[in-house]
Amino acid sequence: MQKPKWVCCPICANKTRIRIREDTVLKCFPLYCPKCKQETLVHIQVNIPDQDVPPDRIEDT
Ligand SMILES: [Zn+2]
Repeated sequence: MQKPKWVCCPICANKTRIRIREDTVLKCFPLYCPKCKQETLVHIQVNIPDQDVPPDRIEDT
């Protein structure tokens, strides 16, 4: 059984309230950080065992 992991904010590395599974793929997901109080577009693809997942930040162009 797959265990959900917490996604960390790419800006402050705080844990967000978003959890993902190992087979979750997020693309252009507006990740809300309760510490920064803002949304950041991220994409996440998980293959990392037993640790919090730092998402890649998608810069606005
Ligand atoms: Zn943050």
